[in-house]
Amino acid sequence: MAARTFSLILLPTLQCNADCDYCFEDKTDDRLSLARLEILIDKVLDHLVVKAIGALTIHWQGGEVMTLPPAWFDAAHRLIGTAAANRGVVVTHGLQTNMIGYGPRWNEVIREMFDNQVGTSVDYPNLYRHRHGKDAADYDRILTENIGQARAAGIEVRAIAVPNAQTLAIGAERFYDHVVGTLGIRSFQVNTPFPGGSPNAAKRDLSLDSAALTRFFVDLAEVWLARGDRDGVRVGPFDELLSVFLDAPSILPCIWTDDCANHILCIDARGNVAQCDCWVASYPDYWFGNLFDADSLDSLLAENPVRERFHQRPMALVARDCIDCDYLALCHGGCPVRTFSVHGTLFEKDPHCELYRSLFGHMAAAAARLARDAQRR
Ligand code: SF4
Ligand code: SF4
Ligand code: SF4
Repeated sequence: MAARTFSLILLPTLQCNADCDYCFEDKTDDRLSLARLEILIDKVLDHLVVKAIGALTIHWQGGEVMTLPPAWFDAAHRLIGTAAANRGVVVTHGLQTNMIGYGPRWNEVIREMFDNQVGTSVDYPNLYRHRHGKDAADYDRILTENIGQARAAGIEVRAIAVPNAQTLAIGAERFYDHVVGTLGIRSFQVNTPFPGGSPNAAKRDLSLDSAALTRFFVDLAEVWLARGDRDGVRVGPFDELLSVFLDAPSILPCIWTDDCANHILCIDARGNVAQCDCWVASYPDYWFGNLFDADSLDSLLAENPVRERFHQRPMALVARDCIDCDYLALCHGGCPVRTFSVHGTLFEKDPHCELYRSLFGHMAAAAARLARDAQRR
């Protein structure tokens, strides 16, 4: 069987123990039962067999995954392992959690199912993340304690960070010091913000000044190049971009894949299928269908008119907005949901285009510098 890998973003619960101001999710009480998970996973694996795809990574997200008990994940792990072995598909699991509900009772399942790693979200300074009726300081206190507790148990904690206006104000150096120095996180990725879902004041604040956001990304790349690369700290997307420009193996974030609809799919606790979590949570008009109503995932996806629009996007942009770009083969027009949340259409280039171009140029220059230095030695 071919070694191609497919990514499934699976939202087994739409409940959350937090109430972040910028959340794009329509949180409900829906949870996936193990019986429904078995049906869902059989259909996903059967689809991969038809497509001759031999490996699946399941990214478990919510809502908040830790509103389900560890025993549920233990049972899910065994159930999926049996179904995958029966079809000769290799399945790996990743966990993305806000860590507010983390405690030692999670350690065994994190070790057995998630290779002793968790991914969480870190905002610094935290303006928008909080529990219902509580403030950001309460959230930060619990998150910091739980990250420390998980790390003390030997778990590798990774993070996704989205800069806000105050992040840009404090600058890249202080941000890096907080994530790496204070929290002890040695692998994190910085994502560009986007106002997904229905508008509110917090999301309007996210429309960050492009020049300031670009400066922050470039400064953070420089901080990482000066300190992190040497200390074995990984900071995405800079590490992977550097690999691209050094002609080394790399795995770029989905925003720069040729066509994310070929590699990624999201299914929520009700069986709704869409491109990724923001689409399934916020834009019902862009659902591909419901897996529990369909005979198979194959029939649901075959000539699916919504999914077809995602496939058409890269070529449409190549023919128009991105044709003269030096980085077209790297970026492919950027991310559909970032585009849609700003422009209301798929058929525009990513609103962070200028940031990407600056960053690509910067990392290309850094790679050339490193290659020159290596030659001189
Ligand atoms: S933790 Fe995630 S799902 Fe929960 S409220 Fe915050 S952004 Fe939304
Ligand atoms: S829409 Fe954007 S975030 Fe979602 S899978 Fe595609 S590239 Fe990734
Ligand atoms: S950097 Fe901008 S112009 Fe270039 S491919 Fe990406 S979105 Fe298109």
